[in-house]
Amino acid sequence: MKGQKRAKAVAKKKARSKKRERTDRARCGLCGKTGNLTKTECCDQWICDDEDRYVLFSYARNSCYRNHSRYTLCGFHYAEGHSGDWQNCQRCGDSFETEMYVYYGTNEYNFETLREVPDYEPTKCSKCNSVIVLGEGGYSTRGGEYFCERCADFDFSQL
Ligand SMILES: [Zn+2]
Ligand SMILES: [Zn+2]
Ligand SMILES: [Zn+2]
Ligand SMILES: [Zn+2]
Repeated sequence: MKGQKRAKAVAKKKARSKKRERTDRARCGLCGKTGNLTKTECCDQWICDDEDRYVLFSYARNSCYRNHSRYTLCGFHYAEGHSGDWQNCQRCGDSFETEMYVYYGTNEYNFETLREVPDYEPTKCSKCNSVIVLGEGGYSTRGGEYFCERCADFDFSQL
């Protein structure tokens, strides 16, 4: 009983001191802003405490915190509870197509990028054969085939 009470008190203290922590020298590792920072859960780096700026279902990418936790291997690796270093995690490698794996491991939401970037064939539109950058979105898939934005629009209008 006593031990439990103490643990609670300690947790409270922790929460309070976190708020008071000096953040004036720290900068967000992604955008360089100072002030209103927090640490990432996955890799303990300073980052904007801005997840509340995200509007639900907007898919906006204006939150450093969210971008790092959602669009990087580091965040994924942590969220999935993998062990070891994300940069050489086999389970992460198996979780995505190579192109997306490379995107999640090298995009601007990373503090550190993949050391070894695997080769991959660019994804092409099954209809017009133009290259689709999966990380940029705007494409659609059907039955394992990829369609660029233009061809996808065209197809849908025919339905
Ligand atoms: Zn930031
Ligand atoms: Zn991280
Ligand atoms: Zn992993
Ligand atoms: Zn196309």
